[in-house]
Amino acid sequence: MDIYADTSFDLIVVGGGMAGSMAAIAAGRLGLKVLLLDEEGYLGGTLTACGTGPMMTFHAGEKQVVRGLGDEMIQRLVAKGLSVGHIPDSTGYTYTVTPFDAEGMKHELELMCIEAGVTLLFHTSFVKATLRDGLLSSIECLCAGNLFTLSAPFFIDASGDSDLIAMAGIPYEQGRESDGRDQPMTMNFKLVGVDIQVIRNLMDTDIELFPFLAPKAGLQHSASRLSFSGFQEIMMEGVKKGEITFDRDIVLCFETNAKNEVIVNMTRINGKNPVDPIALTGAELEGRRQVWELYSFLKTHIPGFENARLTYSGPRIGIRSSRRLKGAYRVTVKDLFAQTIFEDAISACGYPIDVHSPDGEATDTQFFPYGAFYTIPLRSLLNTQVPNVMAAGRNTSSEFEAHASLRVSPSCSAIGQGAGTAVAIAVKTGKDLFSIDIPLLQRTLRENGAFIG
Ligand SMILES: Cc1cc2nc3c(=O)[nH]c(=O)nc-3n(C[C@H](O)[C@H](O)[C@H](O)COP(=O)(O)OP(=O)(O)OC[C@H]3O[C@@H](n4cnc5c(N)ncnc54)[C@H](O)[C@@H]3O)c2cc1C
Repeated sequence: MDIYADTSFDLIVVGGGMAGSMAAIAAGRLGLKVLLLDEEGYLGGTLTACGTGPMMTFHAGEKQVVRGLGDEMIQRLVAKGLSVGHIPDSTGYTYTVTPFDAEGMKHELELMCIEAGVTLLFHTSFVKATLRDGLLSSIECLCAGNLFTLSAPFFIDASGDSDLIAMAGIPYEQGRESDGRDQPMTMNFKLVGVDIQVIRNLMDTDIELFPFLAPKAGLQHSASRLSFSGFQEIMMEGVKKGEITFDRDIVLCFETNAKNEVIVNMTRINGKNPVDPIALTGAELEGRRQVWELYSFLKTHIPGFENARLTYSGPRIGIRSSRRLKGAYRVTVKDLFAQTIFEDAISACGYPIDVHSPDGEATDTQFFPYGAFYTIPLRSLLNTQVPNVMAAGRNTSSEFEAHASLRVSPSCSAIGQGAGTAVAIAVKTGKDLFSIDIPLLQRTLRENGAFIG
């Protein structure tokens, strides 16, 4: 198939992270001809490219509020032994975590796309948008020195950083309202050979080492893979002695689907703009420096890590927040606390507001009441100018702090399904994205397993 010459795509999705993959699969299953492109050579975005995990969280209390395609992907992984599914969060921070095998996820996402008839285009960067008569008519892409043009009647920007939205001249915002600063970037890394039983034993004997878990002591026994957040005093001592030279106050690790392998989510690169190439390069260099510093520190000071071996820091640093669409609706913190069920809800989320401070070592959390969840409205994916472009994923239109909740990967998977389904409804009813039949959209989402409140 000559993809370059093919002008018959109904939808082009830019970015194959959790949001873009689910958008493409949803639209493909509903009969659209979909092209999904990504600058990496695989799907999964932050989860597979940045060593991020576990997926956190599909639940609000006992209720599973993220279902649909994201959950289907997990159940397919569970059936193959590539995920243990949704298990209690033994950090004590949220309800459940969902560890997975990142290589398994890359493959499963490809299988789901191929089954849905989605055309994949890897190693392809979107670089330019062309508008005609108020619509985005085509995009220019780059792969290995080949510059080529692709066109379609509808586009979804699932690039995380809103690359397409920015280049199409659609309004966006970035960072904290007060000063434009983003949450820190983090270079996650993976260690094998961590003696998890040592940490489990400490949870039984010295629960005060694990402050979030302490009020829920015993929970760890029902977690087949261990997540842990603790050893604050040891960390602070390391900072005091200069063994840790960046702002971090706690050890935060997540056992993956593979026993005794952990994701370390601890480095912090603050004050650098994730969409500025020079700052981003600086962040990669600083991230790697912190990885090696931490690796040595953990092995020397944290029980169970003595024989750990560093195996992975991912092809790129993790970006928590960058450009967000300035959409037809901006999700607010008030909406989250009000547990708002929007009339045009397309997904739901029960994760707390989790701001890794742009200023220092702290993580500022605002928890919702037990079991509370909110929804995401279609309007927060829509802009007010270009009716054939929508956002999906962590670029959803929202206040900085509201974003710090809705950005997590289960939520992005559900937002992606909502976006892809919305385009399918637009195509089938011959409307643009500004006049979508909301009852039909919501009915279709529910028929396809989504939970929207
Ligand atoms: C350090 C860190 C830790 C995190 N920890 C967790 C956690 O434990 N649990 C959890 O659930 N969530 C976690 N998150 C959040 C979560 O992983 C992400 O917010 C979510 O996965 C984002 O999904 P997305 O699809 O919107 O975007 P992304 O995953 O960012 O995907 C965007 C995709 O677009 C592609 N792309 C970008 N620009 C272009 C372009 N111009 N052309 C072509 N392709 C492009 C990228 O290659 C990528 O594949 C973490 C995030 C970070 C950074």
